[in-house]
Amino acid sequence: MLSVRDLRMTFPGRRGHGVRAVDGVSFDVPEGQALGLVGESGCGKSTTGRMIVRLLEPTGGTVTFDGQDITHLGPRALLPMRGRLQMIFQDPFASLNPRHTVRQIVAGPRRTVDRDGVVELLRLVGLDAEHADRYPHEFSGGQAQRIGIARALASRPSLIVCDEPVSALDVSIQAQIVNLLADLRADLGLGYLFIAHDLSVVRHMCETVAVMYLGRIVETGSSATVYSDPAHPYTRTLLSAVPVPDPEVEAARERIVLLGDPPSPLAPPPGCTFHPRCPKAQALCRTEAPVLTPVRGRQVSCHFPEE
Ligand code: SF4
Ligand code: MG
Repeated sequence: MLSVRDLRMTFPGRRGHGVRAVDGVSFDVPEGQALGLVGESGCGKSTTGRMIVRLLEPTGGTVTFDGQDITHLGPRALLPMRGRLQMIFQDPFASLNPRHTVRQIVAGPRRTVDRDGVVELLRLVGLDAEHADRYPHEFSGGQAQRIGIARALASRPSLIVCDEPVSALDVSIQAQIVNLLADLRADLGLGYLFIAHDLSVVRHMCETVAVMYLGRIVETGSSATVYSDPAHPYTRTLLSAVPVPDPEVEAARERIVLLGDPPSPLAPPPGCTFHPRCPKAQALCRTEAPVLTPVRGRQVSCHFPEE
């Protein structure tokens, strides 16, 4: 249903050097499936999501949705697609117009949904009919995100790009929103591109996972494979940061602490861009960039994948 090939975003940088925020990303999200796109802030995952829903125009590569190349469609040609491809944002308040009522927000600028339809959508996301005439500031963060989800559902999408939909919310309500998204997916047959900065959120939501580092996918495969047996040192590091509910397992958990911050895409390191922080880096890693290669049933971009 969604197919992304060699997607690129180069922002103009200083002195003519382009900043490669997204550097050749490819993946598929089959109908009704969920792909988790995971990585630290600044790795290009939100930029990737924004290019797919065409809030940003890619500088390279293609986005195909339901068999149609939508990479460079203009606003008018994109209109029939718009509804079926929606996005939920990280900061629910920033994405809701403060001067519009919930009814206006959910119904949308073209009033695709009538009064009853709005009430039905509010119920679907766990809100009530009486919420329809209120304004965004009257709601908690979790409720505001429910409004954002109702708005996304109004046009009957088949795929929703969820850009860190719970990371701005209190920990106590994150699970509620994740469960709501999981239920909606099961009930409505939705597909998700689920963007997150840690692997725990997408674990139970997504059939497949893609780990990004500095604009590229470094490991991708089924969640079952990647979680139980991570092959890229970076994936291993991200997984070691995820707490385990069982206290005995938690006590024995391996914790790998990464050195330093992610390098700036303004000046990516040569060779494998992860090498300055990689506990397994060798001489080859400083000069040769690895490419995605099949390893034990998933794709990994590393010269020395974990055994
Ligand atoms: Fe680490 Fe080398 Fe693999 Fe890069 S290629 S992740 S530096 S071992
Ligand atoms: Mg982001």
